[in-house]
Amino acid sequence: MIDLHCHILPGIDDGAKTDADTLKMLQTAVAEGIKVITASPHHNPEYHNESEGILEKVKEVDAIIQEHQLPIQVLPGQEVRIYGELLEDYEAGKLLTSAGTSNYMLIEFPSNHVPRYASKLFYNMKLQGLQPILVHPERNTGIIENPNLLYDFVEQGVLSQITASSVTGHFGKKIQKLTFQIIEHKLTHFVASDAHNITSRTFKMKEAFELITNEFGEEVSKRFDINAHSVLLNESIYPNSPSRIKNKKFLGLF
Ligand code: FE
Repeated sequence: MIDLHCHILPGIDDGAKTDADTLKMLQTAVAEGIKVITASPHHNPEYHNESEGILEKVKEVDAIIQEHQLPIQVLPGQEVRIYGELLEDYEAGKLLTSAGTSNYMLIEFPSNHVPRYASKLFYNMKLQGLQPILVHPERNTGIIENPNLLYDFVEQGVLSQITASSVTGHFGKKIQKLTFQIIEHKLTHFVASDAHNITSRTFKMKEAFELITNEFGEEVSKRFDINAHSVLLNESIYPNSPSRIKNKKFLGLF
């Protein structure tokens, strides 16, 4: 398994605080069958992590992996909170794509709404050759209230990543049901942990993939795995056509 979203770098955001925390997270990931992790520290108003510092931290984690001879690899990346000057900062070398790829970039919305300029910014990112991956849409209040905002982004060519813990119900039944609908309507392309620690916000990748296989079949979980491999290989992803989540059905959830 590949985990494209994980706060495993020590001491730079609200994920692992120390090398010991990072080691525990690495061991947990290995136990779940994860072979590659893309580190994705926050780049937001609270945690202003830029490329240089992240690349150094990845080297430190690499040394921990070597020291303990763990069968896992950690690659650089970043979770970028959407903001107006994103493209300028990317041009200036402050932002990182995932796993050293030429285009895939994790983009996060503020949790309580969808910024009005998001669609325009995604369009401009794509013009510059960047492929936005919208992270955890199922946990955004704006998308919870109107899931077809996600449909519009996916139709526009944005990819999305759901959280393993949302699949398993860790964020509650409502988010789990919406996550299932997002999968059913082909509105997502990746499952990742967004793990911050090994207690309250752990990986749950193995459990999520098992659940997806049970609910949607082997093909669907395989597709998530293939897509994650494609990112590491810097290859394009050819998504299935998405469909809208019907409001009536969605309202039936509440
Ligand atoms: Fe995250």
